[in-house]
Amino acid sequence: MELEQEIRRRRTFAIISHPDAGKTTLTEKLLLFGGAIHVAGAVKSNKIKKGATSDFMEIERQRGISVATSVMGFEYKDVKINILDTPGHEDFAEDTYRTLTAVDSVIIVIDGAKGVETQTRKLMEVCRMRNTPVMVFINKLDRPCKDPFDLLDEIEKELKIKVRPLAWPISTGPTFKGVYDLYGDRLSLFFGADKQSAEGETLDVKLNDPAIDRYIEPFTQHLRDDLELVEGVYPPFELDSYRAGTVAPVFFGSALNNFGVRELLDCFIDIAPSPGKSHTAQRDIDPYEPKLTGFVFKIHANMDPNHRDRIAFLKICSGVFERNKPYLHVRSGKNIKFAAPTAFMAEKKSVIDEAFPGDIVGLHDTGNFKIGDTFTEGEQLQFVGIPSFSPELFRYIENGDPMKFKQLAKGIDQLMDEGVAQLFTSKMNGRKIIGTVGALQFEVIQYRLEHEYGALCRYEPVQVYKACWVESDNEAQMEDFRKRKFNSMALDKHGREVFLADTSYALSLAQEKFPDIRFHFTSEF
Ligand code: GDP
Repeated sequence: MELEQEIRRRRTFAIISHPDAGKTTLTEKLLLFGGAIHVAGAVKSNKIKKGATSDFMEIERQRGISVATSVMGFEYKDVKINILDTPGHEDFAEDTYRTLTAVDSVIIVIDGAKGVETQTRKLMEVCRMRNTPVMVFINKLDRPCKDPFDLLDEIEKELKIKVRPLAWPISTGPTFKGVYDLYGDRLSLFFGADKQSAEGETLDVKLNDPAIDRYIEPFTQHLRDDLELVEGVYPPFELDSYRAGTVAPVFFGSALNNFGVRELLDCFIDIAPSPGKSHTAQRDIDPYEPKLTGFVFKIHANMDPNHRDRIAFLKICSGVFERNKPYLHVRSGKNIKFAAPTAFMAEKKSVIDEAFPGDIVGLHDTGNFKIGDTFTEGEQLQFVGIPSFSPELFRYIENGDPMKFKQLAKGIDQLMDEGVAQLFTSKMNGRKIIGTVGALQFEVIQYRLEHEYGALCRYEPVQVYKACWVESDNEAQMEDFRKRKFNSMALDKHGREVFLADTSYALSLAQEKFPDIRFHFTSEF
């Protein structure tokens, strides 16, 4: 009974956006509502400042923040909300993709003046792959913005999802009056004076009430016309289509001014799903099952180089997690208990005795855990849906100090477990190739190998356009492929075969010539 109630009252989600759209600001306002923080400015942006690519202090600063903000839990109206933070910098997109495997829904923040931007588009693709329910918050209405209908069209076209506005802006920029809350059917007025605490004012004034004029003149007729059009164009909001990830409810507001945020939050706790089923290679897991299951979706290295321990982030999928109870770490077959599992409430970390599905628990790790590791009460299960994505940049990695060979091997191993990058070993010459999604990772790896493992590495260029995992039922054709492409074959860290195509032409040629071979661009297929 307790388990059931605890699951029902949980909402685990991520806020995603293109950098600068207002993710950090919105997160902060949500935390203020929950009373998790008390002053604005308490949530630090985890983004890497522009132009700081080779500034390692900046990387360390960012890492420090992302430990603190990995998970921000708070209570609001008896709902337990877990916000999972995602890195802002696109070079760390893979980290974001993995985090999205641990959430039940997503809020997308869009800058009302800029509309849909590249990073938003990419992140939405991941949500679509998993049919994650999304809500959209169009931000910065206190500035001149694009026309709301144009914005909605852009979202439908660019993000390939149907929309349904649940709030409507009354002008934007200097004449911004507020929003009409279609979900709560009331008017929210914007004053925008005190940027720290202003919430505007919510009035119980309906659209057809003549009194509305007093507040929003000269925009009354405009609003009525807009809303008539809205009701004509967009079908009524349906919970099921939102939950299925096919329709995104849209809100308008200004995160900085804390305007429209409460409307968003109140609707969110009503409609966002509580933890649902998760998938393992063996069977589907229902969160209401009494026995614990969970998987590691993120590993964070300690900031202190003298203590090379790490925090593994475990997403609880079913049952109750208890402190000091032994759980099976399926990959190693070992039973492990945790004396000090931690929960994250805003910026505070505290040891917890139990946790429920939807919660994220920080586990102390001395280097034994990997991303994707499964914990159970004895059942042999392996969670799926945490793919590695085909990297986009490649370099040979070489030892820079012959005396430190062991340190280098260990460092590379652990950084790969953390998911910083992917490692491939060439079948032809045994050389190691690092693949990343962003150039910044190469520098992060070099820096961390030196500072945390005392190892030096060098990079050398390698001509690789794309890495794809290959498999086939036609063993003869596969064997032929292996022979002909011997120079381009490699193994990933799990020993699976990877084709490192040197050009896009080589890849399409190979796909044409070997029709029975399947080329995969994510590691899970
Ligand atoms: P993130 O990169 O998505 O986390 O964006 P931030 O939350 O750091 O916001 C980027 C910038 O936009 C900051 O300077 C914010 O103060 C500003 N900002 C955020 N929300 C609003 C808003 O509603 N109106 C205006 N005018 N600026 C905003």
